[in-house]
Amino acid sequence: MRCDRCGEPRCATCEEGAPYSRDLKEVADDPVYRAASEIEVEGYMEWTRVEEIAELAERMGWRRIGVAYCVGLHEEASALCAFLERRGFDVVSVCCKVGGVRKEELGLPSMGPDDLACNPAGQARVLNEEGTDLNVTVGLCAGHDLVFQELSDAPVITAVVKDRRLAHCPAAALTNRYYRRRLGID
Ligand code: SF4
Repeated sequence: MRCDRCGEPRCATCEEGAPYSRDLKEVADDPVYRAASEIEVEGYMEWTRVEEIAELAERMGWRRIGVAYCVGLHEEASALCAFLERRGFDVVSVCCKVGGVRKEELGLPSMGPDDLACNPAGQARVLNEEGTDLNVTVGLCAGHDLVFQELSDAPVITAVVKDRRLAHCPAAALTNRYYRRRLGID
């Protein structure tokens, strides 16, 4: 299957895709899927992602929200927590450097003796112990986010994807010709 090579997708009549319609029918009554589908229509081109996350949590009855964030996005995480509180949620937050372990102690590549290691396992444990209903990630490193997702008891949703080079907008590497050239695809 290479949907990306479809010049003009016609999914409603595609023979190759047809067998997969049953997968959707199996989840169509799932409350998360239903809520997401309502939000997609109600807030189309209106709500930002953080508003959509709040809407989803409200519709699902998730009251206690965990925010697992990168220390480099402390301000953004604080703003998100303030927004979630304003929407009436009970918020718990935890920074990626929780535990304060130096990279050198773990034999990891380090940028200096004070360079602390990201601790997605500690972030997950804090939020698991706090009994959060939903965990929102803000700028966790590529790969550390996978460790966090694996260890989190609550479902995980991403508010901000980290891209240090592109002001946390990874899509720019794909939409901007100069960056596409750099990737060797233009
Ligand atoms: S499902 Fe079929 S029509 Fe739709 S994008 Fe994929 S290959 Fe193209």
